[in-house]
Amino acid sequence: MPRRDRLRVVAWRARGRRWACARRPGSRPSGHTRRYVWRVFRATWRYTMSRHTTITGGSMFDAIGGRFVPNPGIVLDGGVIAQVGDVGQRGELIDATGKTVIPGLMNLHGHLAWDGFSDLEGQSRHDGPMLYVKLARGLISAVEAGVTTFRDLGGVHDTGLVARQAQRDGLIAGPKVLTCGRAICRTGGHIWYGNRVADGPDDVRKATREQIRDGADWIKLMAHAYTLEELRACVEQAHEQGVPVTTDAGVWAANAVEAGVDCIEHGGDYDDALVERIRERGVWIVPTLSPVVLQARNGHAWGLKQSVIDRRNAQLADKGRHEGLVRARKAGVRFAFGTDSGSPVVPHDAILAEMQQLLEFGVFEREAEVLQAATIRGAELIGQEERTGSLEAGKAADVVLLAGDLAADLSVIERVERVWVDGRPMVVDGAARRPDPRDFRTFSNVGA
Ligand SMILES: [Zn+2]
Repeated sequence: MPRRDRLRVVAWRARGRRWACARRPGSRPSGHTRRYVWRVFRATWRYTMSRHTTITGGSMFDAIGGRFVPNPGIVLDGGVIAQVGDVGQRGELIDATGKTVIPGLMNLHGHLAWDGFSDLEGQSRHDGPMLYVKLARGLISAVEAGVTTFRDLGGVHDTGLVARQAQRDGLIAGPKVLTCGRAICRTGGHIWYGNRVADGPDDVRKATREQIRDGADWIKLMAHAYTLEELRACVEQAHEQGVPVTTDAGVWAANAVEAGVDCIEHGGDYDDALVERIRERGVWIVPTLSPVVLQARNGHAWGLKQSVIDRRNAQLADKGRHEGLVRARKAGVRFAFGTDSGSPVVPHDAILAEMQQLLEFGVFEREAEVLQAATIRGAELIGQEERTGSLEAGKAADVVLLAGDLAADLSVIERVERVWVDGRPMVVDGAARRPDPRDFRTFSNVGA
């Protein structure tokens, strides 16, 4: 029985005994009752102490202020950050001297059905079991890289939904997953072989309803070559049901923004008028530079064709492709962080390359801004800034301990030592550990 439930039973029994005493005014608790009260006290104390973790020393990234500060002491209590400040010691003590504590990272663009190999179409034809093995590996890689929230933007079959449930049930170590179910595209559209293909406003509307029925947290619309009417049908339907829409806009960004999407993935060459529309409408951008960068840099090792590698190198050298992102950021458009992991040559644990390239292109000027995009801004994009995204008392204990001084060297982001997701230790000494499923379940969902 999970400790939480055991405690509930003990507390329930003790309540019954208190009432029994109250029914006999003036009577003293019997020896049996006193022993019982002592057992309740002892169980409560042990439970409270065992679920606490105190992290002291080292430095801490203050995501709200966008700066590094000396770690004032952080206490994790079950699933939440109980206290930040002068904390003393409660439960397990972790000395973070020489290390950095940051909020869990948010990779808000990835594909768990893919593992970074280039043949997406071939991978998409894998049968169900192979896809599920792959997504299990992807979840482990992501959490070992310090990712505590992952937005899956399109897979094959129901991979995103399966990943979300497997993580929630504690079957595997991994970040919390948000998913779009299947992305929606027109016949022959981008990655059609893994998507829900829909043509015409009515069908697009139906495809949107289907994803929401199946449990999608977001709708991912492949805007390529859709008419404005089709795009509007999707956005109207999703918003009517309270679900946000994102799109891999590229050259179709203007249409997508006009249709009312909430977020644009990739993108880059926006003119001033479009930047103004994006800002006005409060649309988010998740740039995802990793595929171009990593294919250019590591393509050979992954067996990518030389012609693709050459094209990627040319794209990297063409600053004009990314100037729109710089203009958008300067205009005040909000940015979150995503690597497009799972797509060719982008494994789920590759975080640093995206951060470095965002700085190199000047999308962000300071390293702290990149880290904010990957933490608190990400939480804002998914509407969870009250729950996570920074190290503050009362928020979910999504916490990463890095073995080094991140303020001095951004590459320390790769030296992940420990990760807690909702307070559960998912990574210890740099390696994912198997969660205890009993910590994730209650009698209410085990059944009679
Ligand atoms: Zn993608």
